[in-house]
Amino acid sequence: MPELPEVETVRRGLEQKLNNFIIKKVEICRDSTVAFPTNKKDFIEGLHNSLLYKWDRRGKYLIAELKKFENENIKFPLKKFSENNGFLVVHLRMTGYFKFINNSILPCKHTRIRFFDKKNNELRYIDVRSFGQMWWIREGLSPNKIIKGLGSLGPEPFSKDFDTEYLKKVISKRTKSIKAILLDQTIVAGIGNIYADESLYSAGISPFREARTINKNELIKLKESIVTVLKKSIGSGGTTFSDFRDLEGENGNFGLQTNVYRRTGKECRKCGNLIERQKITGRSTHWCPKCQK
Ligand SMILES: [Zn+2]
Repeated sequence: MPELPEVETVRRGLEQKLNNFIIKKVEICRDSTVAFPTNKKDFIEGLHNSLLYKWDRRGKYLIAELKKFENENIKFPLKKFSENNGFLVVHLRMTGYFKFINNSILPCKHTRIRFFDKKNNELRYIDVRSFGQMWWIREGLSPNKIIKGLGSLGPEPFSKDFDTEYLKKVISKRTKSIKAILLDQTIVAGIGNIYADESLYSAGISPFREARTINKNELIKLKESIVTVLKKSIGSGGTTFSDFRDLEGENGNFGLQTNVYRRTGKECRKCGNLIERQKITGRSTHWCPKCQK
C-alpha cells in the first residue's frame, strides 16, 4: 500500500503534470470507486468545468482544491476565475495509481475513472484491486465530516504537533505494541507497514514493545527516526515495494533501499545478525532482534 512518501510523490507528480487541467469530461468505469456523492451523476456534473487548482496531501489522502471555470473566454492567470468548487479527494488504498495520458491509449480493464480536458488529455485512475476511493466534496461541505478516516487522522509526522510530548501523552497508558501504535492513523497520519518497521529499526526499538514502556529518550529517537526515514524516502520517490506507481506508470526500482522490510533471513546492515519476521496484529513485521530492544 502506498504510504506517506509514495502519496507525497504522487502529489508532486500531479502538481507538475496537471498544469491548468480543466475537467471537461468524466467517465466512471467502475461505480464503486466513487464514494461520494452517492449519485454518480452528481459526481460527473459537479466536476465538469473544474480546474484542478492545487494538490494537497493529508496522511495517505490526496486532496485537490477545485475552481469552477464556466466561461471559456476568461484567460489565465488563474486568479481571474476564483470561484471555489470544493474538493476532489482520493485514497489510493492498496493498488490505485494515476496515469497522465496525452496520446489516447485505450484503457486497460483495471481503469476505474477517466478525466479529460478539452484537448483530450487524460488523467486516468487505474486500480487492480479496486479498494481506492474518490469523493467530490462540494463547496460548503466539510471533507473532514464526510470522510471519517480523514476527519479522525492524527497529526502529520512533519508537523510541529507531532513531538515527543505528544507521543508520550498518547502512548502513556497504551498496552498495545509500538508497531500497532505507529500503524494507527488516528495517532499519526501516513505511516504504514514499511515505514513503521524501518523507523523502529532506525530507533533501535523492538516492534513488540508495549507502547507505554518506551521511555522519553527512546521516544525522542523514534520521532527523529520517523521524520528522517520518511524524508529520505520522499527524496528518492518512494520505495521499490508495493504496487505503487508514479504518474509515468513506473513503480520506481530506484526507490529507497530498506534495512529490515522484506529482508527476512538477510544480514542486518549494522550487526550482521539475521533479520526476522513475525506478524503483529495481522501485519508482517521485520526486525533485527539484536539491534532492537
Ligand atoms: Zn542488527
